[in-house]
Amino acid sequence: MIHANSSRPRFVLAILLGGMAMFHFSGCQMPDGSPKEEPKGQPKDEPKRDQFAEDRAPNDPKAIPFDGKRAMGYLKDLCAIGPRISGSVGMEKQRELIKKHFEAFGAKVTLQKFDGKQPSQKDAVPMVNLIISWRPEAKKRVMFAGHYDTRPIADQELLERDWTKPFVSANDGTSTTAWMMELAHHIKDLDLKVGLDFVIFDGEEFMFNPKRDRFFLGSIYFADDYKKNPPAHRYIAAVLLDLFAGKDATFPIEVHSYFNAAEVVDSIWKEAEKQGVKSFLYQRGHEVLDDHIALQKIGIPAIDIIDFDYPHWHKLTDLPENCSGEKMAEVAKVLTAWIQRLK
Ligand code: ZN
Repeated sequence: MIHANSSRPRFVLAILLGGMAMFHFSGCQMPDGSPKEEPKGQPKDEPKRDQFAEDRAPNDPKAIPFDGKRAMGYLKDLCAIGPRISGSVGMEKQRELIKKHFEAFGAKVTLQKFDGKQPSQKDAVPMVNLIISWRPEAKKRVMFAGHYDTRPIADQELLERDWTKPFVSANDGTSTTAWMMELAHHIKDLDLKVGLDFVIFDGEEFMFNPKRDRFFLGSIYFADDYKKNPPAHRYIAAVLLDLFAGKDATFPIEVHSYFNAAEVVDSIWKEAEKQGVKSFLYQRGHEVLDDHIALQKIGIPAIDIIDFDYPHWHKLTDLPENCSGEKMAEVAKVLTAWIQRLK
């Protein structure tokens, strides 16, 4: 992902937009009244506000014993493969592992294959988005999303000679997959009234020259395909998790998420409050371009839960030891409670 205010992502250093002032949700106005920043492409299929209303929801969504230690074990297993750059042997190995894992829990795993071509590279690379479906028959669905490719270069390292050293990207993408792998143990115990898809994008990090190359190949392909071949189901919300498992991660509200899916943001941050999870900050956060943007452009109310202040972003130190199973469990507590309230 990149910070929206930077044309050169490697210079991005956590620039806060408008500080961390508290703001309130009413309509689609940001607190400083800056509608100019509103991203293009408005959702066409926004859920009605009452879709998330508490009075229609069960009082007590079931709590699940999300095992942070086991989630960290999955994270270590994925990182142990080494770099998993799109089109590489490591990526192929990872895909097999993930597919097998979810199929063992009874999920339907669909491989969405496409060729990813970057202007800076001579050849296209085969890429695969993974769509892992629970309750595939349900027409009303929610998406939890992430990416599973690792960046070819660790270009936030100060010394350019370090950029090409093996980079495993523990929190950047990988933590989301590990989180989903642990969540797979508990899906059968959730009281789900909607269908649930884990959509794991390829080609999020396949970037060699930020001036020439395209970002977000996987989510853009997914969105184009969704538009060209409209499925029988409909996503009422999508929640992207990225850089969310750092030890001290906090989640102020990402700006595009708020502009395009305020009701999803509102309902999740309220749920966090209800669950006593303090890392969800009801404050304005960074403006981040990430895989949720392509989803928003096709009318899916999509948000990004992201800790863009993670100090190891695109550095060789983005390692499992800088991630936290407790943090993963916190986020699971919020999202599993939230999703059980949806009808
Ligand atoms: Zn990244």
